[in-house]
Amino acid sequence: MTQPDANTLCKSCGLCCSGHLFSWVRLNAPELDPVEKLGLNVIRNDPRQRGFTQPCPVWNGVCAVYTSPDYPRNCKSYKCKALKQLLDENITLPEALSVIQETLTLIREIEALLPASSAISFRERLISHKEYLESKGRAHEALDQEFLGKTAVLLNRYEDRFGVDDFIDYET
Ligand code: SF4
Repeated sequence: MTQPDANTLCKSCGLCCSGHLFSWVRLNAPELDPVEKLGLNVIRNDPRQRGFTQPCPVWNGVCAVYTSPDYPRNCKSYKCKALKQLLDENITLPEALSVIQETLTLIREIEALLPASSAISFRERLISHKEYLESKGRAHEALDQEFLGKTAVLLNRYEDRFGVDDFIDYET
């Protein structure tokens, strides 16, 4: 596995920056001001939720602040399970790319079933609609059932293929 392979994988994905895997990312207190100056949406009022929100505004197919000295610590250290497996040579680049493509296809299918919402993070909208449907406690419409079925597959996939079982942040 080469560094260009890792770059190819991350550039074809971006799910850890786009609000699909996470809705926010934790920051240390000293990072708050410099990271805000980079253009990220910093949240700081609650010490238990100190970080920046996703989707990240500086993600546009690549990270625009990757070379900054103030690049967030967790962005620097975070590696999803698929990337770790690639780096450890437990999967090949084509296999890893196909995990990403299948996941992106599933996300697009779920997007089409999600109602409009003021929340901008896909992950937040996903969980909120899932919990709403589950709380209704009655037989669901066919589209609701389709949404719940696909969401269950996606959340399993997030855990199995990306190592993500918590939608809050990517503290490493
Ligand atoms: S700062 Fe860069 S690496 Fe971190 S979430 Fe934003 S786009 Fe992704």
